[in-house]
Amino acid sequence: MYPLLSIKNLSINFDDKGNAIKAVDSISLNVEKGKITALVGESGSGKSVTALSVLKLLPGNTNISGNIFFSPDGSQQIDLGNLSQKDIKEIRGNKIAMIFQEPMTSLNPVLTCGWQVMETLMAHQKLSRKKARERTIKLFTQVELPDPAAMVNRYPHQVSGGQKQRVMIAMAISCNPDLLIADEPTTALDVSVQKSILELIKRIQVQNELGVLLITHDLGLVADVADSIAVMYKSKIVEEGNAMEVLKNPRHNYTKALLACRPAANVKGKRLPVINDFSENKNIVATTAN
Ligand code: ADP
Ligand code: MG
Repeated sequence: MYPLLSIKNLSINFDDKGNAIKAVDSISLNVEKGKITALVGESGSGKSVTALSVLKLLPGNTNISGNIFFSPDGSQQIDLGNLSQKDIKEIRGNKIAMIFQEPMTSLNPVLTCGWQVMETLMAHQKLSRKKARERTIKLFTQVELPDPAAMVNRYPHQVSGGQKQRVMIAMAISCNPDLLIADEPTTALDVSVQKSILELIKRIQVQNELGVLLITHDLGLVADVADSIAVMYKSKIVEEGNAMEVLKNPRHNYTKALLACRPAANVKGKRLPVINDFSENKNIVATTAN
């Protein structure tokens, strides 16, 4: 396999009334074709800004340096940062799809779930209304929505949060993208639903041979599905590598802290440690670990 997405020395600053806010500081990371890279870090560490930069979705007051190479077939490399808004529009949705934390804000409440996917198919794939409906039912079956044919006619408020995220996943994969960027796809959902959505993303990733950039603050949650892990702390990547190795043998204090902040299944009644327990005592330094 080959790197589908290769971010090199990416730095992102916002100009806030003359003050520069450093949101991303010289990070590099890869997403391989057919693999999941998890980008993990606490809130505010720069994960979403990184994701949005890939699709040129950041506002005008943003200074970006570095390269974001996208290689859908492994040979030709497109530097996404150099594309015009018109060219990136061709890639958005068609070759790179994105899902967000809050499916309710991404779905239009006055349109049925099915229609929103059909519209995408009619616009991007030029399918007829009838064909788009058939394909939407197939997609709803693939994302394991109950009674897919009936689900097409439901409005977003008539389905559960987990089901809305399934509709979003169906929409994201409707145009057969190569890369899926999922930014905290389970954070707004009940704990019991989180795992099933993650398992669905994993299944679809395998079925469709997708590369996935899976963004989360919950390192334990992605442990079972990620192939590689990049840990982001205060706008830098402090540790990265094969998922098994990072989880078994975390080298950076911050990674250890993220792992320790998960409740253990067999220990009851103790206060969970928080990131500060680690940073105050052990002085986390935001530099690359190796
Ligand atoms: P994460 O997704 O890891 O929680 P973000 O990538 O959203 O974090 O944010 C990283 C940093 O960039 C934060 O300090 C945030 O306040 C800042 N930031 C994000 N978007 C903007 C913006 N449009 N203008 C100014 N600062 C921003
Ligand atoms: Mg975020």
